[in-house]
Amino acid sequence: MKKLTRAADERVSWSRSFPFFLMHVAPIGIVWAGFGWTEAVVCFLLYYVRMFFITAGYHRFFAHRAFKTSRIFQFVLACGGATAAQKGPLWWAGHHRHHHKHSDTAEDVHSPLKGFWWSHMGWIVCAKFEETDVVGIKEFLRYPELRWLNRYHLVPPALLGLGCYLLGGASVLFGGFFLSTVLLYHGTFLVNSLAHVWGRRRYATTDTSKNSLLIALVTNGEGWHNNHHYYQSTANQGFFWWEIDVSYYVLRVLSWGGVVWDLRTPPKHVLEANRLADTAPGASAVVAAAQTAGSPS
Ligand SMILES: [Zn+2]
Ligand SMILES: [Zn+2]
Repeated sequence: MKKLTRAADERVSWSRSFPFFLMHVAPIGIVWAGFGWTEAVVCFLLYYVRMFFITAGYHRFFAHRAFKTSRIFQFVLACGGATAAQKGPLWWAGHHRHHHKHSDTAEDVHSPLKGFWWSHMGWIVCAKFEETDVVGIKEFLRYPELRWLNRYHLVPPALLGLGCYLLGGASVLFGGFFLSTVLLYHGTFLVNSLAHVWGRRRYATTDTSKNSLLIALVTNGEGWHNNHHYYQSTANQGFFWWEIDVSYYVLRVLSWGGVVWDLRTPPKHVLEANRLADTAPGASAVVAAAQTAGSPS
């Protein structure tokens, strides 16, 4: 795999990233506060519910506008995503759009070609990328509630942490909130790092994106990253029935109740075009003419 050299200002800012590292220390509190079934269930639920808000909200809605919803539910998605403590929706989605625009080039904020750990978490603790890419996300700037949330993005996670403490005590705060938040960081970050390194490629794209069931299971369906890079604007990232995509299933249920609508899915001609070898169950082994075209070496 070719390597890209990071620019001189693309480096970890140790002082500014102190809160991020402190978050990784916080779950150690379970050593004295204890960890039982209650904490495990809260941890599990907070992980997967917030993963839904990150994937369906921050990613598929704000970054890709893969479906439509009301202004109220748009704010619910934004607040839910913010509880994951991954900064505000406009910051998150703006940087993500930039990633798609410049995937695996020198411009890419978090290409693993600049180093695996850089793509996983280095870029997040880099001063260069602290600001919101307001040009990249400009259609959402007209909503004052989103601008407010993007600025005060620590309010939702702080309230969630406080709620955990008030309802379940210190053990639920450390074992439920903090532990799931750290797991959620790394589950989400796998899509930027491992999903560009490990897995299978179905479509000939000009980037290193891969499909991986394992990553899909821990990210509510975002592991079908090669599908997603190939055709980005869909509410589903698992393009076939056997590609598990929990966030899409939840969106489908929400659409039955009219909470979201106009879920975009890939047209048939897109599914069949530019395919490399496909060995998934039920699929014919379609080999596109340019078998390795677009697959960086
Ligand atoms: Zn990607
Ligand atoms: Zn995307």
